[in-house]
Amino acid sequence: MQPTMKQALFLKSYFFFVLLWICTFSIAQTPAPDLDSITEDSYRRMLERQEAEKNEIVYPIFKAPSYNSTLETYSVADVPSPRGEGIMGYVSDPKDIIDFAAEQRINKLLYELEKKSSVEVAVVMLPSIGQEVPKNFAVALFEKWGIGKADTDNGLLILTVMDQRRTEFEVGYGLEGILTDVVCYRIGVNEIVPRFKEGDFGGGIESAVLRVKEFLENPEAIDEVYGYSVVHEEQEFEWHWYYLLPLIYPLLCIIFGFWYYGQAFDIQRSKDDYYDKYHRLDKLKFGCTQYLFPLPMLFFARMAKRRLEHYRNAPRFSKRNGKPMKLVNHYDEIDYLAEAQLLEEELKSVLYDVWITEDASDIMFLEYEGPNGRKYADCKECSYKTFGKTSSLVLVAATYDNGGTRIDTYECRNCNYKEEKEIAIPQKSRPSESSSGSSFSSSSSSSSSSFGGGSSGGGGAGVSW
Ligand SMILES: [Zn+2]
Repeated sequence: MQPTMKQALFLKSYFFFVLLWICTFSIAQTPAPDLDSITEDSYRRMLERQEAEKNEIVYPIFKAPSYNSTLETYSVADVPSPRGEGIMGYVSDPKDIIDFAAEQRINKLLYELEKKSSVEVAVVMLPSIGQEVPKNFAVALFEKWGIGKADTDNGLLILTVMDQRRTEFEVGYGLEGILTDVVCYRIGVNEIVPRFKEGDFGGGIESAVLRVKEFLENPEAIDEVYGYSVVHEEQEFEWHWYYLLPLIYPLLCIIFGFWYYGQAFDIQRSKDDYYDKYHRLDKLKFGCTQYLFPLPMLFFARMAKRRLEHYRNAPRFSKRNGKPMKLVNHYDEIDYLAEAQLLEEELKSVLYDVWITEDASDIMFLEYEGPNGRKYADCKECSYKTFGKTSSLVLVAATYDNGGTRIDTYECRNCNYKEEKEIAIPQKSRPSESSSGSSFSSSSSSSSSSFGGGSSGGGGAGVSW
């Protein structure tokens, strides 16, 4: 294969995959759960529902673990679990950062949540963890306590480290589908950050817990927590024209494919001689269609190439006396072609086939465009296709602010006729500045205790306040 063919083939497949990518991308864009989509109305309804439920639920007496109040800096082992012998609750708050009333409300909310959906949530408020990274600390604590049921991994740890002004949401595998990194981050930003900044730690945790509860208690979410397959059908379907692309595009491919094959068939069937057939078919190959429709054009190009070869080499007969002709060997063409024609062949701008009858009574010259046919033009002086660019001289270089100029020199390789053209160079475009986003999560695994023995999925997010 010639290099230009290879390049064309590469370009074709490249364009095809770009188009394919655009098609699939536009389809695959389904919006993530959005906190803003929760309306005031649904929020009020939920509060009313909770009020109604509260009357039916019998709450246990929540009893906090005993704390070692001398500790200022906590390691994972130091943090007392809110679950165990004679202890019942969801909050571990050794320094009483959350006031008693708020802690009771949080315990109630999380008790309701666990009763209803089996999801286990632990809230931990620590004055300091020293130089530890809160995210790593949260992962380790999650593993140690085994928050969440072991079979569904439906645990959540909300860890706040006071001196680092940081709150981490550590999410178990089973909840990652609902409490995505984005959801956790938004809950942190919307509920935790503004209240914590005002010193309302109980209020911040309470409204974050409410939000989490709201997310987990909508029926679809509960199905997901329990591992049933969920269909999110409530999202309103927004129609975009480009959804049709994956449908239209193959259709266009088929139409163009048919059209080209029809043309090729028409040429094959016509009464033209092989030379005319060759040029009619050769013209079809050009144009941008091969980039827009690489797949059908790939098949077509193969077929066309075979046929072109056939047309070029098919047996020919003298138009003068009907005698069969034979193609003159490339090296013997020197006897028949003019010097300028041999130069054209050497430059590969034009290729000649010389056909001759056995008795040399008729001779025929057939002209084909060579692989460099587009690099050369017909010379204005000698009319051979030997006129091409020889040099390009930049007079003024282009900058980001101004365009430049260069002088292209064209010369005929045959008669040395020369032309110079002044070409404007477009202004350079500045590279666009790129920005980077923030990151959330890493990874972890499991162990067991008086929580259900769930393991962290490594998902979740942290917010600094
Ligand atoms: Zn010339």
